[in-house]
Parts: sequence; structure tokens; C-alpha cells
Amino acid sequence: MSTFQAPKGTYDLTPPRSATFLAVREAISAPLRDSGYGYIETPGFENVELFARGVGESTDIVTKEMYTLTTKGGDQLALRPEGTASVLRAALEANLHKAGNLPVKLWYSGSYYRYERPQAGRYRHFSQVGAEAIGTEDPALDAELIILADQAYRSLGLRRFRILLNSLGDKECRPVYREALQTFLRDLDLDEETRRRIEINPLRVLDDKRADVQKQLTDAPKLRDYLCDACKAYHEEVRALLTAAGVAFEDDEKLVRGLDYYTRTTFEFVHDGLGSQSAVGGGGRYDGLSEMIGGPELPSVGWALGVDRTVLALEAESVELDLPATTSVYAVPLGEEARRVLFGVVTELRRAGIAADFAFGGRGLKGAMKSANRSGARYTLVAGGRDLAEGVVQLKDMESGEQSAVPLAEAAAELAKRLG
Ligand code: ATP
Ligand code: MG
Repeated sequence: MSTFQAPKGTYDLTPPRSATFLAVREAISAPLRDSGYGYIETPGFENVELFARGVGESTDIVTKEMYTLTTKGGDQLALRPEGTASVLRAALEANLHKAGNLPVKLWYSGSYYRYERPQAGRYRHFSQVGAEAIGTEDPALDAELIILADQAYRSLGLRRFRILLNSLGDKECRPVYREALQTFLRDLDLDEETRRRIEINPLRVLDDKRADVQKQLTDAPKLRDYLCDACKAYHEEVRALLTAAGVAFEDDEKLVRGLDYYTRTTFEFVHDGLGSQSAVGGGGRYDGLSEMIGGPELPSVGWALGVDRTVLALEAESVELDLPATTSVYAVPLGEEARRVLFGVVTELRRAGIAADFAFGGRGLKGAMKSANRSGARYTLVAGGRDLAEGVVQLKDMESGEQSAVPLAEAAAELAKRLG
């Protein structure tokens, strides 16, 4: 071990576990790519003001969890704590919403940073795959995103996840509820910070994770009883579309989520094998966000799924992903001349699209065969001076153990044929 370690709250992805992370990103993004979502990539940092306005001044993310920095030029930046504000900022900046093709459907994948108390499933650097559908108010769009996330989790083999669903109302009905909730909360026994939160963003109090707070919230007024007719109808339509698609969900009236910008549909994916960090993903509709960051009215909906927690969920369910071996052919040269010749064959195989690897470093047969085994290769090519003198290489099927001499000039073609 060197004197350096990964910073607190972070970890490295190393083989073989890193392959699972790649597979999870692939599995989450595949349904999006097949559904008209285009790939977007934004910088790892933004002006801090974007998040202050876009995520909300009263959220934990902005008040406690952001990594902020001042550049040598005096710019106030923050490492991105989430994706939605950046993606919307980028879409507005590129005028994607003016191309006459709404909704603008985008997906992204990347690293996010939050200064949190590190614990299992909660890190300071983590990874998300997200999707945003910008510029359209249509319950089918909300349903589409929930269905695609469900499809992604199922394609990974996850079963013990649940979908929690709620509506947060809109600018008509939420203010009325907000006031009723404030009146209720002011009478509770809460600490100073939470009392302040009642005045700034009372819905966030419902999101408090502490058991003693949750106990006092049992009789809190329910947003459902305050929803206006338009919000109610919208929500019923989302529910009906999910039901028609065979996607099970649970109505969760307390689900508010930690970001300020959500309106109407909100949802969370929770996994029952993860202990207290149970949310594997979440999202919802954010009809007001564009205007909050200086754009036009663009009702939108999106989600972000946590890659780290999805991998933990796979481990909790003991799901072994069917990851194909990365190497199909492993070449083992015996001697200097064979090294040059087999290296040439490996290059030829690679150019033909066959995953091949090579015993580097002039190791003995035993050690090299161990590496061949570990590589998961289906075939090994072994050649020494005598083989080359006869113009052949030894081709070994690692599954059956069968070995045969193949003319050197035909080795690549023979392997291509056998590997289909
Ligand atoms: P939590 O309530 O657990 O703090 P959150 O509401 O802050 O989650 P979101 O901002 O909705 O989370 O992010 C979406 C997903 O990203 C989460 O469901 C989770 O899987 C993942 N995520 C969020 N914060 C972290 C973190 N600190 N470490 C690992 N994954 C995270
Ligand atoms: Mg959080």
C-alpha cells in the first residue's frame, strides 16, 4: 500500500467489481436509448448559483452537501451534486427546446459529489444515470420514465425493489397545503434547525429521516387532501398508465424528496435489502425549474438512479450478472521467436474483432497457463520453437481441454469460425 488512500467517503472501482458498474450503467441506459433519449454530457462543475437556485437554498444539498470552490479567477463554482439543473441549463443554452421537437429527451451518466456523512450506500463521490424529458406536460411522459426505470431494474434481475409514488401538487394547490402543514408543524416538539425549516420549506420536514420526528408526523395533513382537480386528474392518469403497463407502485403520501423543484408527480425506487440507505433512485416532475434558472416555462420530468446503490442491491439479492468473459483467446508463447509470431496473431485477432490477450513478460508455461485460465478465455494458443518449425500452433479449447495443432496461417480464421 502506498502512503495515499482514496479520500474519505470515496472508493475506487477496480476489476472485477468495476465490470458490474459498467453493466449497471449499460442496463439503465439501454431502455432510454431505445426510447428516444439522446446522450448529454455536462461539466463536472457549474456556477454555484445554478444549484443554489435550481436545487433550492433550503435543501440539505445546497446548505450542507455542496463542494464549493473559488477559482484563481474568482469564479464561485461547485462540484455538481446532482444532474437535473446542469442538464436543463445545458439544454436551454443549446436552445434544444426551440428546435420544435418537444419533449427534449436526454439521458446522462456521471459522477456526483456531496459532502455527506459517509456510511454504507452513502458516499461523497457517487455515480448516477439519469433521464430528463423537457418541455412537455403529459402524464404519459411521467409514466414512461417510471416504466423505463422499472424495466432497467428488472433487466438486471432485481426483484426486491418497490416504487413509491406521490403528487406534490402545483402552484395552485401546494401553497394552501404548505400553510396547513406549517400550522401543524409549529405545534410539534422539534429542534431549532427543523423549526427554521418549517418556515422555509415545510414539506422537507416530512422527509426527515429521524424516527422521533417521523413519529410526530403521523397525523400531519396529507397533501392528497389538498390537491386541486387538475393535479388530481393528472395523478390519476399517471397511476392508470402504470397500472395498464403492469408496473406495481405504492402510494406514499409522505414522499416529498430532498429537492425544491419538484411539482406534481414524485417517485422513489427503494430496495428492501439496503438498510437505511434504501433509495436506489428517484425523480419527478419539475415544472417550475426552467423559470427558476431564467428560462422559459418548460414543464419537465426526470429521474436519477444511483449506480452505487443499484450494485449494492444486486449484491443484497445475490444477483450474479451474466457478464461475458472479456477475453476470448489467450496466447502463450514459448520462446523469443514464438513471442513475435503469436503477438502478430493476437494483433490480427483483435483487428478481426476477437477479444485476445497475450502472456507478456516472457513467463514460463505454468504461470502463463494460470493467467490464461484467469482471463476466462475460451481458447488458448500455445506455440514453441518446434511448433513454429512445423508451421503450426497448438489450439486448446479451455472448456473441453481438447488440444490440436492448427496451421499458423489458419489460426486466426479457425478461431473466428469456432467463436462464431
Ligand atoms: P437520500 O434520501 O438517500 O439522501 P437523495 O434523495 O438525496 O437520497 P437523489 O438526490 O434523489 O437522492 O439522488 C438519486 C439517487 O442517487 C439516490 O436514490 C441514490 O441512489 C443516489 N445517491 C444520492 N446521494 C448519494 C450518496 N451520497 N451516495 C451514493 N448514492 C447516492
Ligand atoms: Mg440525500
